[in-house]
Formats: sequence, C-alpha cells, structure tokens
Amino acid sequence: MPLFDAFPEITKRREPLAPYTHLRIGGPAECLVQPRTTDELKAVLRYCKTKSIPLRMLGGGFNLLVNDDPIPGVVMRLTGPEFSSIETQGKTIRAAGGAQLFDLIAHSVRSGLGGLETLVGIRGTVGGSVRCNVGDRSGEIGACVRRVAVLHDDASELIRTRDELTFGLHSSDLDEPVILWVEFELTPENPRAVLKRMTRAWIIRKAAEPHSFQAGVRLFRDPAGLNAASLIERAGLAKFRVGSAEISDRNGNYAIAHPGTTAKDVLKLIDHVRAKVKDSAGVTLERELNVW
Ligand SMILES: Cc1cc2nc3c(=O)[nH]c(=O)nc-3n(C[C@H](O)[C@H](O)[C@H](O)COP(=O)(O)OP(=O)(O)OC[C@H]3O[C@@H](n4cnc5c(N)ncnc54)[C@H](O)[C@@H]3O)c2cc1C
Repeated sequence: MPLFDAFPEITKRREPLAPYTHLRIGGPAECLVQPRTTDELKAVLRYCKTKSIPLRMLGGGFNLLVNDDPIPGVVMRLTGPEFSSIETQGKTIRAAGGAQLFDLIAHSVRSGLGGLETLVGIRGTVGGSVRCNVGDRSGEIGACVRRVAVLHDDASELIRTRDELTFGLHSSDLDEPVILWVEFELTPENPRAVLKRMTRAWIIRKAAEPHSFQAGVRLFRDPAGLNAASLIERAGLAKFRVGSAEISDRNGNYAIAHPGTTAKDVLKLIDHVRAKVKDSAGVTLERELNVW
C-alpha cells in the first residue's frame, strides 16, 4: 500500500517545502507527513523502515537549504500539541522536539531558571536546535542538556543521558532519525537577573544578524580561533551576489535570499565564498548549513 493510502489524514503528496523553510526556496517533498501523536509518528517510522523509504526530519527550516529538485521519500514535521509541550519540574524543563526554542527560553525565564536565556533570538525547534547545538561565545544549548529521548528508524525509543552525548561546534552526535524530547537542567536564579541577561543577549544578537525582514541563513562554522564572518568580509565579499543570493553586509557569514533566489544560486555562492577565503586567508571553511 502506498504511504499516502496508509496515512491519508496526515500526508500531503508533492508538497512544496519552500513555505516551511526560512529561505522560502526549494522543491517539493514526495510526501510531507505531519503526525498528530507519538503512536502515529512511530507507525510512519516503521512503515518507512519496512518499505526502505528515505525519511528526513524538518524543524523550523532555519538551518536548511532545500534543493530545487523534488525530495524523494518522506519529510516529517512535528507540529501537533504533543510535540510542542514544555513542562517544568524543579530545576528541570522537558521540552518536546517540535517546541519552539523561543517558547522554551521564555518558559525558563518566567520560571526563574537560568542557562538558556543567552540563546534568545536564535530561531528553530528544540529538536533542530539541540541536534545543531546552537549557541555562540555566550554559551551553547548542549551545556544544559540532561537527557534526550530519540527514536531509531524501527521506532524503538532510547533515552540518551548527558554522559553519552557529544556536543561540538554547532554539531552533536544525535544522529538518530527523531529527537522526541529533551530535558534541560537549569540553575534557579532571581528571574529579574535572568531577564536582564536575556535582554542584553537579544540586543547583541540582533545587531549582528541580517535585518529581520530578510530571509538569511548562516553558512559556515567558525574555524578554531577565527571568525568566519570576518574572513569573508576581509576577502571583500560583503554584498557579493550569485543570481538573487547575496552575502549580507551586516554579517559576512549570512546569505540573504532575495525574491527569485534558487537553491543553485545559494550553493554557487557558498562555493565561491569558500574558494575566495581559501585564496585570501588559506583557510578552508566548513559548511554549517544543512543541504537537502
Ligand atoms: C537569522 C538566523 C540566525 C541564527 N543564529 C544562530 C546562532 O546565533 N547560533 C546558532 O548556533 N545557530 C544560529 N542559527 C541557525 C539555526 O537557528 C539553528 O541551527 C536552528 O536552531 C535549527 O533548528 P530548526 O528547527 O530550524 O532545524 P532545521 O533547520 O529544520 O533542521 C536542522 C537539522 O536538524 C534536524 N532536525 C530538526 N528537527 C529534528 C528532530 N525533531 N529530530 C531530529 N532531527 C531534527 C534536521 O533534519 C536537520 O538536519 C541562525 C539561523 C538564522 C536563520
């Protein structure tokens, strides 16, 4: 039985993915599946495993470039209420994989729990953000993670604890298909002190990003001891364009997708920037942006 017939209420066929990503570009998914419950999610995983159907998880699409060609197999989004719950118990917050990072941070600040507030302004879901270990010099999300519940491709559930997890620069070893929920261990503090740090972090981050009306994504990881944005700017690439994709003049490590940009434009821009920085500074930049 085709996947659409097995899960008709939660499956959209040939669904364009552009509206689900921050860049608003990219081709359609063969099937976009949006399960309503964990049981439905597990049933889809088992189905895909049995039929050898490729499966990808889509969070908020803030660290993602979707190619212009159709994406084969299943793209899954965790959108139902079960996948966006956030609960506090003492100094621990458990957030579902589909919850918004912003909601988690707001919840932690309201609860007077410190640790996540300097990540304010980074957009994405909890699942995508923990997988990508979001953060900057002020801290990384991985430092607050206590436990992560993941699903394997056969839908079996595993809880990975802090000491079994490895977080790197904008990366983690969480490579199971689904992050179901994440538990964070935070520090009880005066809520006003946490709020003050959050406000400061917001101002600093917003000043170093493209304007909020622009569709821009980060391109590269910072090489050890260096700053990708400075390397790109020093190579004279601010405002450099390929088609309608342009390097931001507010931060050289962001590509802006103006209307009409294709995934090919962004990929060519990435190749050009990498080659120029290699020529000018002798540094090979490593891509941070996920590409499908
Ligand atoms: C303007 C702007 C500013 C940014 N600033 C920062 C910054 O300061 N620091 C920083 O670190 N990042 C930054 N980012 C990057 C981005 O915000 C994060 O990487 C983001 O949190 C990714 O989350 P997402 O839900 O959008 O994931 P997506 O982009 O949708 O997916 C990213 C990866 O996670 C996987 N994934 C998503 N959800 C799940 C899940 N539930 N289970 C398993 N895998 C999953 C996807 O398959 C994909 O491999 C910025 C991005 C933008 C656009």
